[in-house]
Amino acid sequence: MVYICNRKQQTQRMALKREEDFNAQLSGSIPEQETSSNSWFKRRKKGISTSTAEKKETPDGLWTKCPSCKYTCTTDELKDNLSVCPKCSYHHRIGSEEYFDILFDEHQYTELFADVKSIDFLGFNDLKPYKKRLDEAYTKTGLHDSITAAVGKVNGNDLVISCMDFNFIGGSLGSVMGEKIARSAEYCLEHRIPLMIISKSGGARMMESAFSLMQLPKTIGKISKLAVAGIPYISLCTDPTYGGTTASFAMVGDVNIGEPGAMIGFAGPRVIKETIKKDLPDGFQTSEFLIEHGFLDMIVGRKELKNKIATLLSLFAS
Ligand SMILES: [Zn+2]
Repeated sequence: MVYICNRKQQTQRMALKREEDFNAQLSGSIPEQETSSNSWFKRRKKGISTSTAEKKETPDGLWTKCPSCKYTCTTDELKDNLSVCPKCSYHHRIGSEEYFDILFDEHQYTELFADVKSIDFLGFNDLKPYKKRLDEAYTKTGLHDSITAAVGKVNGNDLVISCMDFNFIGGSLGSVMGEKIARSAEYCLEHRIPLMIISKSGGARMMESAFSLMQLPKTIGKISKLAVAGIPYISLCTDPTYGGTTASFAMVGDVNIGEPGAMIGFAGPRVIKETIKKDLPDGFQTSEFLIEHGFLDMIVGRKELKNKIATLLSLFAS
């Protein structure tokens, strides 16, 4: 009986010791030289030693992943590379401010017609009132509308650039865009300066209905005056250039340029595929496809854009 008692106590003591050892190892309080059957699992220091003040937070949007090749780099690295993927040359979408910075000498330019603003003359409501949609777009983008016009110099050559912003209601062609393009053309006529339009648009602004469609003849009419006056007009189609934009001023440049890989068309590929009930060829509606079919004169990457435009302007001037 005595023997049984001692044996039982010994077993209990051993179990208790093992449990103590394990807890001690978890808390890191056992010296390194002490070994046991659990020695492979040791926490050398107790808890997290980095103070909260030293903790480095990773802000949102610090890294960018290329949608084409999945290469990940910092947004600063991408920006330094003019928003062109360093690995596969995919051209990320940029806005008017970035294009002006790339093209105009020393980032110097003067914005034109900034006071022209959209009005909800139809009292249009879709998922939300058009006026509310406009107010949200002004707040979100800090822009005056889906197009910004500016005048400056490109390698010493005067140029008016009207550039769209896709962030502002999909770069949609509304009455303000039409008016700004018309005024840009008039400004070019008056000062005898070439015009460049950088398109980035999903098409007509549906909330303005027929007023949006009226911008097609209005813009084309004004731009045709440039041709009569012998003033060059350059169209740069970037990703995406669709709908009313393609159906009017984007395709009538003295030189029509496409950005590499840009999608350019009237209706989108899905709509066309469903209409004609046929599979579309590879690369359909890309710049590379369009240049083969005679819609574009050249494809110019963003890094060569400034020098190429400057060369064209010099050639036109001479
Ligand atoms: Zn890439």
